[in-house]
Amino acid sequence: MRGQSLLGRTMLEIDTGLQEQFFWEEIRCGISSGVPRLEGTIQTQRGLVRHVVKTVERRTLGGRNRIVVTTRDISTERAVEELAARSASLLAATLESTADGLLVLDLGDRIQNFNRRFAAIFGLPPELATSRDTDVLFARIRAAFATPTAWDDALAVGLKHPGTTHLQTLALADGRWLDYSLRPQSLRGQVIGQIWSFSEVTDRMRHEEALLCARDAADSANRAKSQFLSAMSHELRTPLNAILGFTQLLEFDGLPQQKESLQTIRQAGEHLLALIDEVLDLARIEAGRIDLHIQQVQLTDVVQEAIALTRPLAAQYDITIQANVGSHVVMADPLRLRQILINLISNAAKYNHRNGSVAIRSRACSLATGTGVAIEVADTGIGIAEEDFDKLFQPFSRIGGTPSQVEGTGLGLALVWRLIELMRGKVRVESVVGDGSRFIVELPSG
Ligand code: ADP
Repeated sequence: MRGQSLLGRTMLEIDTGLQEQFFWEEIRCGISSGVPRLEGTIQTQRGLVRHVVKTVERRTLGGRNRIVVTTRDISTERAVEELAARSASLLAATLESTADGLLVLDLGDRIQNFNRRFAAIFGLPPELATSRDTDVLFARIRAAFATPTAWDDALAVGLKHPGTTHLQTLALADGRWLDYSLRPQSLRGQVIGQIWSFSEVTDRMRHEEALLCARDAADSANRAKSQFLSAMSHELRTPLNAILGFTQLLEFDGLPQQKESLQTIRQAGEHLLALIDEVLDLARIEAGRIDLHIQQVQLTDVVQEAIALTRPLAAQYDITIQANVGSHVVMADPLRLRQILINLISNAAKYNHRNGSVAIRSRACSLATGTGVAIEVADTGIGIAEEDFDKLFQPFSRIGGTPSQVEGTGLGLALVWRLIELMRGKVRVESVVGDGSRFIVELPSG
């Protein structure tokens, strides 16, 4: 502040505060002798208000009584203080407005700040907020964790890698769970401390634990079911094979009037045996007890074998089978691939119109894992509604509209799905109701 800007003006023009008016009156009347150091404001000639520290004293100068006023402009200091106070208030408001507990440490692990939520999570006494005693605070935190070394381990990680972010979930001794994250605090590119953020995740962890328990229980129930089914299937097959064997003998040697009944017994027995075989296969897959021998397989060979085995069934339904399969080589278990094709071709014949046809084709395709071969089994049959596509591959599901006189177990496609999955392939269906269906199997090429 320039001295000239004050010249020729009365003190009351310069010093405008109300209490100053009384003060100068007292000085003028000699009631007050002055003040050693007083903060206040003064107004410059241009009307600007400046913060000052002033000293007022009475002195005798050159034989005359004078009032000497000394001022020091502290406006800049005040502005800086104001800015600092605003930042502190903003920081405090931000710290308190988060739902997480926050702790700020410097690089020497000394407390810089923490919010009320942090104090609540660790049950800290209110006096710690003022004393900020690091030793007392750390002792409290250490005791709160279920593992006594958890806090020191976490501090060690922060100390080793101060510039990186860490996330972890830890158990508290009282049964609660905490997620914590540790992030660096930087100033002009330099790491100067660490910000620890804690949030309670007890509900989430309990939920996850309950889910894991439920999954384990379901897994063991599933394993028990598969073991039971596989044991039962063995028990059922032995007597059934005996029934079938003796029925065939009687068909040869028995009385002519019994032939028809014996044929019915044999067909029912064969159907039951097929069902047991499929249940056994499914149970083995679900129990993880199926051995696949995956190797390079000439597709034409397997397709020809499958056609030869399904031709009698196709003939029953007056269905013709055509194959146009290239000399593709696939990676598959040959016996299981034949079983898959038999299932698909049998279905294409069973769910067809009289005098319909089945076409088998192959082409190269690409799989997520590399090149593949797509094998299509297309029929001219009754078709499948799109909303039933997902149900098709579920065990024991026969979809609506399927003619009830057509024999089936509802297990064939479920087996196809699982076997293809085990061979790292895919199966999908395209269909138009009334026009026919196309099952597409994609396998890695060999
Ligand atoms: P199923 O032994 O009953 O044939 P699948 O698992 O092979 O058992 O097939 C399940 C159901 O899917 C069948 O019952 C039938 O309703 C339907 N389905 C399968 N293939 C075809 C097809 N090519 N055309 C129409 N429906 C089909």
